[in-house]
Amino acid sequence: MCAKGFIKDCQERVFAGIGISSDDAKKLFNIPEENLKELAKYANEITRDFNGNKVDVEQLNNIKKNACSEDCVFCGQSAFFDTGIETYQLPSPEDVVKKAQKAKNDGAESYCLVAAWREPSPRDFEKVCKIISEINDKVGISVECSLGFLTSEQAKKLKELKVKRYNHNLETAKSKFAEICTTHTYEDRLKTLGIARDAGLELCTGGIIGLGETREQRLELALELGRLYPEEVTINILVPMPGTPLELQTELPNSEIVRMFSVIRFLLPESVIKISGGRESKLNDSGEELLQSGANGIITEGYLTMGGNEAQKDRELIERIGLKT
Ligand code: SF4
Repeated sequence: MCAKGFIKDCQERVFAGIGISSDDAKKLFNIPEENLKELAKYANEITRDFNGNKVDVEQLNNIKKNACSEDCVFCGQSAFFDTGIETYQLPSPEDVVKKAQKAKNDGAESYCLVAAWREPSPRDFEKVCKIISEINDKVGISVECSLGFLTSEQAKKLKELKVKRYNHNLETAKSKFAEICTTHTYEDRLKTLGIARDAGLELCTGGIIGLGETREQRLELALELGRLYPEEVTINILVPMPGTPLELQTELPNSEIVRMFSVIRFLLPESVIKISGGRESKLNDSGEELLQSGANGIITEGYLTMGGNEAQKDRELIERIGLKT
């Protein structure tokens, strides 16, 4: 079968609910460069068929910045590296409520509270719960959280507070993980995802590409995501942070990024696949191509340690390519 015929055959199996095998995903990932546009086009058709024309737009609030105890080599918030970024502790609920209200007014679908620590202390967890309650009472936007490792009790508490989705990224492939972080393991991360799932929270997970991993390792991460079947996948493209061990990391070619998003779509037809950090700075079109190559979500108004497009600019981008928020 020719490459185009193979992609089409994979798409038909996705539409038929059969899905594709790991071997199929590997072949798709390694499709010749001249067939990349077809791979992206068929991935886009899967996105539209399962998810319509809507783009899931999210805003983040980094509620505890910097000096994290973990040594993830890409991260500007690790206490192991001197990156010179500002530090602050948990803000007041009033402060977060104002920002959540702005996110809602901007048209964001969800508002994610992110904290840079290994896991929340009981005291900090209580404070975060208070913040969530206040957002629920005063704003009424879908709240998501990314608070590091959780106990079962904490996960259940978040569910009680109507947190919709819990974000905990795998960061990279299992075979690459020990090069990226030594203070915890890949299994620790899988365990937290299991705890969140058992508590009834939806899952958001993914990783960062461009850390020096091989294409095979990007496939490995994609297959793990396919196995976990999260409601949302979040893929960041490394923006090297001065002061971190990856500050001089070579950029991934755009075609590798398109391959990643397209193949994940074949594996996860129904999930939100979100272009996260690096969208504005590492893609020369702010994600227009990827939103037509499998992705159907973005983060707007900035990230944990860097700015991003304003919400209005992203709305215009989405309309320009015939999609809607
Ligand atoms: S990625 Fe998360 S766990 Fe790792 S150093 Fe950064 S804030 Fe800490």
